[in-house]
Amino acid sequence: MARVYNFNAGPAVLPLEVLEEAREQLVDYKCSGMSLMESSHRGKEYDAVHAEVIANYRKLLNLSDDYAICLVAGGASLQFAMVPLNLLTEGQTADYTNSGAWASKAVKEAQLVGKVNIAANTGKDIPTKVPAAGDLKLTKGAAYVHITSNETISGAQWKEFPKTESPLVADMSSDILSRPFDINQFGLVYAGAQKNLGPSGLALVVIRKELAERAPAKLNTMLKYKTYIEENSLYNTPPCFSIYIMMLVSRWMLKTGLENLYRRNRDKAAKIYAAIDKGGFYRGTSAPGCRSDMNITFRLPSEALEEQFVKEASKLGMKGLKGHRSVGGIRASIYNAFPPEGVDALVSFMAEFEKKNG
Ligand SMILES: *Cc1c(COP(=O)(O)O)cnc(C)c1O
Repeated sequence: MARVYNFNAGPAVLPLEVLEEAREQLVDYKCSGMSLMESSHRGKEYDAVHAEVIANYRKLLNLSDDYAICLVAGGASLQFAMVPLNLLTEGQTADYTNSGAWASKAVKEAQLVGKVNIAANTGKDIPTKVPAAGDLKLTKGAAYVHITSNETISGAQWKEFPKTESPLVADMSSDILSRPFDINQFGLVYAGAQKNLGPSGLALVVIRKELAERAPAKLNTMLKYKTYIEENSLYNTPPCFSIYIMMLVSRWMLKTGLENLYRRNRDKAAKIYAAIDKGGFYRGTSAPGCRSDMNITFRLPSEALEEQFVKEASKLGMKGLKGHRSVGGIRASIYNAFPPEGVDALVSFMAEFEKKNG
């Protein structure tokens, strides 16, 4: 069976060597006589996986002892709630930037917990963009400032993060570890795993430990970051197999190197943007300066042509190019594991399609 070029926005393409290794170990994990899925989460096989994934992320993110890593089920959407439940203490305000569909979901959850100030709103701007780092109307003494580093649906990405007095919190679901960044600028970073890190249903949370102390005493155990920190994300039975895949992906990222991934990601994105900008046929939907290197969004002259584009690409083994149902158009999601050859295939197809239909 041939693998296709998978442009899905999430769940998304995983490195082939990760899938092959998992297949190899699926039935009899490391000669233990059972699958890791059947193993105890307190046993030595899973223990080694758990320790390695955390050690690898500490390395990849260059974490100091001030930060903890939590592996939390429930994906990024649960983090929309856990962030305010833990950090937005009574009487305080949280500053949120609204940059689109994902940011507004984060806002909605925070509003259920406490007071929210919208520090900037570009959610409805056309072309789509994220706020400029210098343009935020911040609250003095805010509990924290929340940004969405990459809007996966619209394809707009922060290139420079704001400098804030209050702890900066970022939803990095769709661009974490796609580029180097300084984690020390942030109080908390979270990411649903299914874009750059592994399977869905799981979030990586990186938190400055002191922030976890804010949680109200009456907050339920499983909703408290403190529980995950104190119990090393093993208070309950974690999603062991998903964490195993995440561990293999982290190993692959370490081996490839973050700088190499970044260079590769920029090259991939630049090739598609160049194809978009070449003539008048394709039209990018994000403002220059905020164009995402992960989710490249563009339109064709008509919806009928867009539909035809997606259909023909699919026949050629390029899957998942249809834009999100809320915005239409085309979206090419090219996360870390997306191979450069797939980008070359798309770019040739774009030229061909334009020649025939332009
Ligand atoms: C995919 C995505 C989410 C939602 O992730 P779930 O794991 O489905 O909850 C949140 N934020 C961003 C930026 C995303 O791309």
